[in-house]
Amino acid sequence: MIIAIDGPAAAGKGTLARRIAAALGLPYLDTGLLYRAVGRRVLDVGGDPADVEAATTAARSLTDADFQRTDLRGPEADKAASQVASIPAVRAALLDYQRHYGTTKGAVLDGRDIGTIVFPNADVKLFVTASLEARTQRRHAEILGRGELIPIEAVRADLAARDEADRTRAAAPLIQAADATLLDTSNMNADEAFAKALRLVKQKTI
Ligand code: C5P
Repeated sequence: MIIAIDGPAAAGKGTLARRIAAALGLPYLDTGLLYRAVGRRVLDVGGDPADVEAATTAARSLTDADFQRTDLRGPEADKAASQVASIPAVRAALLDYQRHYGTTKGAVLDGRDIGTIVFPNADVKLFVTASLEARTQRRHAEILGRGELIPIEAVRADLAARDEADRTRAAAPLIQAADATLLDTSNMNADEAFAKALRLVKQKTI
């Protein structure tokens, strides 16, 4: 079984996807980590994440160790990920890994293009979203929880800029698949969102 969970940044996709995977005994892949790892690789050598050649070389040489890095979160990694993600050759280099991941035992994958490009025939597709304000509050709380200080305006501006870039890029833009179910979590806590998502998954699969 393939469950595709797409949506904008900080909508709660990751938490939801992880919990659904655990509930159903499926592997879980956070595909954003792939783009984050590529961005980091480019930054490591002082490169520009918007540089097609540098980013494509990095995408083709990722290893599992790249996903274990502890610096894949935070504003710098967010921005670099979004920049490399707009490069078609980078996306192409990461496609096989994602498809292969899902084909052996099934999987829950979250990202931006899982239901549209990676697994267009997924058994269940959820498009998880929330208002910019709700997402800003959550991401800000998460950053403070890590012990970092950042003005809430900066979080809001970063999310808005990344959403805009993800929605308007030519390569695999962030868009709700025609057959995806919309789940707006603006007024839900994590438990409510999980309960609702699990109900939707069960409706689609039994
Ligand atoms: O999901 P996350 O916020 O970790 O993703 C980081 C960035 O990676 C996104 O802003 C987006 O540009 C890119 N991404 C993507 N396609 C995916 C997953 C992530 O383009 N399937």
